[in-house]
Amino acid sequence: MHYPDLEEYRLADPKSARYAFFEPATRNVGWLWREIPFEQGAVPAQVTRTLRDVIMMGALRRDVLQALYPSCTAPSDFRTHIVRGPALPCPLCGEEPVLDPGLALAWPTQVALGRSEYAIPNPGRTLLYIFPDLVLHDVEAHGYRPPADFLEALDGLDLCTGVVVNELRTRRRPKRRLL
Ligand SMILES: [Zn+2]
Repeated sequence: MHYPDLEEYRLADPKSARYAFFEPATRNVGWLWREIPFEQGAVPAQVTRTLRDVIMMGALRRDVLQALYPSCTAPSDFRTHIVRGPALPCPLCGEEPVLDPGLALAWPTQVALGRSEYAIPNPGRTLLYIFPDLVLHDVEAHGYRPPADFLEALDGLDLCTGVVVNELRTRRRPKRRLL
């Protein structure tokens, strides 16, 4: 499924239970698809690391998170959708990438990408960037460079404020458009 970067977030079927509205305005990031061209370029290592942390905080058990991030007493949860079926392979290369937390005793020992959706706020908290977890693979394996505003939001993100993004979900489309 392809959605252009920085368009308002939508899912294909508005009647589906997977359709979601969020109170801040929303922007899509990283919904890449097969032959459709995408931005390429370097992403700072620190920002990629934060993206990886965002995904791990959503995917791993709390006791594992405490081992990985001992100073973080309130890990945030940036997941918007958790797909419980099998992981979707990368639409660009067909691989089923996994994320290795790097802890020998952690369970699960690997996190399958292609299963979940995440959202992070911009620094002013006026909008949410919504992205699939495969973005990490797209950056690392395919040279994808997400929009600069998204990278800036990741760079300034505090992962330990206990934010639960799904609490920003609303049942109906907000009447006002914030942007
Ligand atoms: Zn790929």
